[in-house]
Amino acid sequence: MKADILTIFPGFFTGPLDHGITRRACEMGLAKIEVHDLRQFTHDRHRTVDDRPFGGGEGMVLKPEPLFECLETLQLAGRGDRLAGRAKQSVILLSAQGQRFTQKIAAELAALDRMVLICGRYEGVDERVADFLADRELSIGDYVLSGGELGAAVIVEAITRLLPGAVGNEASTQQESFSGHERAGEVTEKAAADSTCGTGGLLDYPHYTRPADFRGMAVPEVLLNGDHQQIRKWRRQRALEKTLRNRPDLLDGAQLSDEDAKILARIKASRA
Ligand code: SAM
Repeated sequence: MKADILTIFPGFFTGPLDHGITRRACEMGLAKIEVHDLRQFTHDRHRTVDDRPFGGGEGMVLKPEPLFECLETLQLAGRGDRLAGRAKQSVILLSAQGQRFTQKIAAELAALDRMVLICGRYEGVDERVADFLADRELSIGDYVLSGGELGAAVIVEAITRLLPGAVGNEASTQQESFSGHERAGEVTEKAAADSTCGTGGLLDYPHYTRPADFRGMAVPEVLLNGDHQQIRKWRRQRALEKTLRNRPDLLDGAQLSDEDAKILARIKASRA
């Protein structure tokens, strides 16, 4: 996967993407990240990338020319081929007005060969970029940031860990919150057999490590007895409890078994 990031602050990315799995994925050649400085695509001596909004109003707007010119140097497939899925590429504009970025979208993007992330600034980006240059607009959440750079880093990190081979244990990205029915590649049979359970769209279950007793706070007994069937059941119950408490909206789209439905009914009854 090659990711191109278009920004007026290229230095921003020195650091966030240089650690952990993202760094390892780059070192292993699974991912390649290239940052492009939009000021290199300006033609005046002030290297101007912004201008006042037509129609008046607050602030400045990121001009279209540097973005179009930068993208034209990247030698991507045509927009029509990208939108029709004939090219495994996507040009993404980071925007608070975009579709909300989710684990499902991360998995879709991880299956691409190439992704371009356009970082906005100021009051936003000239709308012709959303209309004629980008393939989609993505938001990382319902709040307004000062620029798209953090969003681009979030998207790159979420996608990189889904690339087959990036995370040591193939099954672990299937057992995480929101996951279980979507990812870039298939887990190997061995990895699936080693995993405890997929979340099926729920939040993850709680994790504990040594010491078994820390300042009087004991690890749940069930995790120490070696009974994997009991552990599996306990984890599922705790994942259901946590999802109901913190993100009940996820239960609508989750893959729930009859046993899950019974557990949920019991949890709800105990709260009533
Ligand atoms: N005027 C815009 C609005 O109200 O929707 C906000 C512009 S924001 C100050 C500047 C840039 O930050 C945007 O062009 C976008 O690239 C980025 N940005 C802000 N919030 C974002 C979010 N939630 N997700 C992704 N990008 C965001």
